[in-house]
Amino acid sequence: MLGDSYPARLLGSPGMNPIYLDNASTTPVLPEVVEAMRPFWSDTFGNPASAHRVGQRARQALESARETVAEQLGALSEEVIFTSGATEANNLAIFGLAGSPPGRLLVSRAEHPSILEPIQHLGKHGLEIQTLELDRQGVTQLGQFEPARLVSIMLANNETGVLQPVQQLARDIRGTVEHFHSDAVQAVGKVPVNFRDLGVTTLSLSAHKFHGPRGIGALLVRKGTRPEPLLFGGHQQRGLRPGTEPVALAIGLAKALELACTQMATRTAYVQRLRDRFLSRLRDGAGPIQINSDIAVSLPHIVNISFLGCRADVLLMKLDLAGVACSTGSACSSGSLLPSPVLRAMSCADDVLNSAMRFSFSHLTTLPDVDDGCDRIITAVNDLCRMQLTDGSMTR
Ligand code: PMP
Repeated sequence: MLGDSYPARLLGSPGMNPIYLDNASTTPVLPEVVEAMRPFWSDTFGNPASAHRVGQRARQALESARETVAEQLGALSEEVIFTSGATEANNLAIFGLAGSPPGRLLVSRAEHPSILEPIQHLGKHGLEIQTLELDRQGVTQLGQFEPARLVSIMLANNETGVLQPVQQLARDIRGTVEHFHSDAVQAVGKVPVNFRDLGVTTLSLSAHKFHGPRGIGALLVRKGTRPEPLLFGGHQQRGLRPGTEPVALAIGLAKALELACTQMATRTAYVQRLRDRFLSRLRDGAGPIQINSDIAVSLPHIVNISFLGCRADVLLMKLDLAGVACSTGSACSSGSLLPSPVLRAMSCADDVLNSAMRFSFSHLTTLPDVDDGCDRIITAVNDLCRMQLTDGSMTR
C-alpha cells in the first residue's frame, strides 16, 4: 500500500515520530514477503540438493523463485545465480571475468566500492585499469578507450540516483570489450530492467533494496559465459556459486521483485510526487541548496542535495537526533568523513562536496513524513548555519 509508513518501534527516537529517508541504503521487508517466506523456514525446510521428497519440495520452490526472477528481468532461469547479496555478486562478476594478466579493465568513476575495490585489487596484481570519467550530470563518458577484457558500468548510481545509458554504452563498445558487467542494485525494482535488451554479460542485484530480505542477491550471467567461481566445494548453481541455497531468502527475493515490478508504475508516480514536494519545500526553506541529481535522468526515489555552507557530517548527526534517518553518501562509506568520490568526479566544488546529503524515499514513505521531515531539516540547517556563523567555521 502506498504511504503505509514504517514500523515506528524499529526506528525509535523517544518521544519523536521517526522519519526514514534512507531507502537507498536498505528497505524494510514487506509483510507479503515475510508471509511468502514463512513456510520455508521450518515446514518446507529440505536441502534442495537432497534426492528425497523433502528436498525435492525445496528444490521446486527454489527453481520457481529463480524462474520468477528471470521472468521479471528478461533473463533465462539458468542465467540466475543466487548470491549472499550484491557485494558478492559484484565480486563474482569482476574476479570471475577479469582473467589473468596481461589484460585491461575499464571502470566507471561512478561505481560502488564493491566494484572499485576488487578492480583495484586486480590492478595491484598486474591487470591494467582504465577509469571512465563522468560528466557534470554524473553520466559515464566512454572517451578514448583501448580494447579491454571487461568493463563495469552501473545502471544507476547509489549516491545521486543518476541513470547510466548502459544499453547504448554496451552497443558502443561491442567488439572492443569482451565482457560488460552492470551493477543494477539501485535500479532493479525501480525502473524497467531487461537483461537481454541491455546487452550486458552480467548484472547484479540485491533483495534488500526493494523490500526483500537482507542477505540475498543475484548475479545474472549470460548463457554461454562462465565466470571463474569465487568459492569451491559444491556442485550447486552449476558450480558457479556452490553452497546450500537459502530457499526462504530466494523466495523472499522473488516475491519482493515481483511486487516491485508489478507495482512499479504506481510506486514511481507516488515517490516522484513525494520527491517534488520535498525539493520544493527545501528550496523555499533551507536555501541556498544545490541539487546534485539531474532529476531528468535519475531514479525517482533518490535525491542528492547540498546545503551550501553546512557541514554534511554535522547535519547528519543533528538530523539523527531530530529523528530523521538519511545519509551523506553510500552507507558503506558514511563511516568516513571523506567527500564523495562520485560528486568529486562530477567536478562539484568543495562547498558542494562538503555539504552533500542523500535522501531516498519508498512507496511506504508518507506525505506527513515528507512534510515533517522537511520541517526538521529546515530547522536543523538553519540552526547549524547560525552555529557556524557564530564560531566562524563556515558562512552561508
Ligand atoms: N552496489 C550498489 C550500487 C549498492 O548501493 C550496494 C548497497 N549499498 C551494493 C552494491 C552492495 O549490496 P549488498 O548490500 O547487497 O552487498
